[in-house]
Formats: sequence, structure tokens, C-alpha cells
Amino acid sequence: MRSALGVMLASAVSVVVIVAVWFWTYSPRAVLAAPDTVSARLAERAPTSARSTRTLADEIEVTATIAGRPSIDASSPAKSSAALPAAPLQPKAACANPDALGVSRVVEIDTTGGPGFGFDHFKQLDFLADKEVVLTFDDGPWPNNTPAVLKALADECTKAVFFPIGKHATYHPAILRQVAAAGHTVGAHTWSHANLNSKKMTEQQAKDEVEKGFSAVKLALGAAPSPFFRFPQLQHGPAAMAHLGSRNIAMFSCDLDSFDFRAKDAAQIVNTIMTKLDKQGKGIILMHDFQKHTAEALPTLLGRLKVGGYKVVLMRAKAPLQTLAEYDEGLVKDMKLPTVSARALGNVVQTVSQ
Ligand SMILES: [Zn+2]
Repeated sequence: MRSALGVMLASAVSVVVIVAVWFWTYSPRAVLAAPDTVSARLAERAPTSARSTRTLADEIEVTATIAGRPSIDASSPAKSSAALPAAPLQPKAACANPDALGVSRVVEIDTTGGPGFGFDHFKQLDFLADKEVVLTFDDGPWPNNTPAVLKALADECTKAVFFPIGKHATYHPAILRQVAAAGHTVGAHTWSHANLNSKKMTEQQAKDEVEKGFSAVKLALGAAPSPFFRFPQLQHGPAAMAHLGSRNIAMFSCDLDSFDFRAKDAAQIVNTIMTKLDKQGKGIILMHDFQKHTAEALPTLLGRLKVGGYKVVLMRAKAPLQTLAEYDEGLVKDMKLPTVSARALGNVVQTVSQ
């Protein structure tokens, strides 16, 4: 009897051992060794606001960690090769600069309800870790300056969020397409840069500015923009905010204003940003690709960020914005030439005397 019990016990133990060995040998390690994503830390740091039932983790999800440069962290080779999932946005080979600033992580934003970002106005969603920055550029696309900004970003294999003005997008659609093609996030910044908090601004006008701006960006890109919006002059009009919320469009203020539009030269922009950043430690930085001095400042600024140990985070939307058909169609109608003749030149213009 004791020996029979012993055999049964031994069999049970063997099965357990076999299963354990199989699991250890064949189970997907990458899943077990899930990357030490920031989600967990985010959850811990999520602000406890009684007003909102949505947590930070509901709205922001770390979707990928991009190795902007080849990993030279010899102390943890296993982590760099196995723990990091392949970046969907940027193949590793895309970065020719081994010492580039790069993108340290990509966060995906669930824009449901129109969450607000940037502590200058919205205090709730604190998703950046110390030394993390988000680069944002307003008022483009514009000849020379926007391409110069794109080049500086490309040289450092890093990414930003752009808030173009609708009218500018219709003037220079090819430049805006370059922005999108480079993998940057493209939102909108109204149709004509109107102050949406002005007393003269009606609810309808505010809605038109928002929607026409997004439709213009879509028309220029030939693709839907991200549901990311920045108010001109950071003037947050209540009617427009309500509208953006109902359209599930995220609102962007900033943590750190570069005041680049009034800087006397590139050096002043770099100085302003680095001084504020060293004090605050992190933040969404507001700049303008429309400004010449900003374009000139960018190579130096990115170099200073790198030396200072700052890391760039790219924000992108979980889903693109569905623009409203009436604004898409109205814009196409506005932009069409008044008459288009299909008649051949020779039928219209005849030389009768020479
Ligand atoms: Zn602006």
C-alpha cells in the first residue's frame, strides 16, 4: 500500500516537473518578460480627482518604445533586445545617426471626451516622467521654416506634434504632407487663427473655426488628422471647449512656453526653453515651426536636450478624427476656381491679325 502510494506520488511529481520544464522551455519569453512599461508607474502616479472617473491609464497608453538609436547599453543587452517590442512607427534602420536624440517612448491618447494636456491650463493628466519632453509646433506649414524644423528633427531621429493653421495648410499642402510623411503627429489649430475666447466670437463661429481647420488639414494631407487641437494664443473659449469635448478632440495647452515668436534670435529661444526645463524637469514644449528663429534654434536645442539627459516622448492618437462632411465639402467648393473651361485653346483663342 505504501509503495502504491509512493508510485502515485512520484507520477504526480513527474507530471508537474514535465509541465514546468515544457512551460519554461517553450512558452513565449517575450510575453513573460513584458517590457517594464510605464503603464504601471502611470497608474501609481495617476491623479486622484473626484471629478473624473477616468484614470490617466484610460487615456494614455504606452504603445511602443522606440530605439531612436542603436542600443549601446551593454549592461542590459537582454533587456534591449528582448523586452522592447518592435516599433511600429519607425523601423530601426531609419535612423542614420547613431548618437541621435531619438524618441524614448510613444504614448497613445484616447481622446474620448476631449482630455486636456499641458499644465498651463489642464492639471489633471500628468503622464510625463522626470526628464521627459514633448515637442510641439504651431502655426505652420510655412516655406523654409517648416522644412528646416523637419530637417532638424530628422537629423536627431526624433518626432513632434504639429498644430497647423487651416489656411496655411491650403497654401502649402505639400509641406504639410512632408510633416505627416516624416511620422510626426498632425492635429489642427483652427482655420484662421481666430481668438476663440473673444467676446465677439459666436458659438457657431467657434465651431466653424475648429471644424474648418481640421477639414483643411485633411484636405492637404489627403488623410484624416489626429483629434488633437490647440487654441490660438492658448485662449480657451468655453463654447469651443464644449464642442471639442463633444467631438472627442483632445485639447493641448503646454507646460512650457518658449515665447519663440517674440525672441530676438535663436539663442534666446534655446536659453528660455532650457532655463525653464531645468527648473521644471519635464514638459510639453510650445514652439512655432512658422518662426524663422525657431527653425534656426532647433539643432542647438535638440543637442542641448540630449546633453541634458532629456528624452522625447511622441504623443499620437488612438484613432484619427472623423471630419464633418459639410466642412470638407464646403472647403472644396470654396477652393474651386469659379469657371473651368474644357474647350481646347485653339477653339477659344484664334489669331486674326498679326
Ligand atoms: Zn498659433
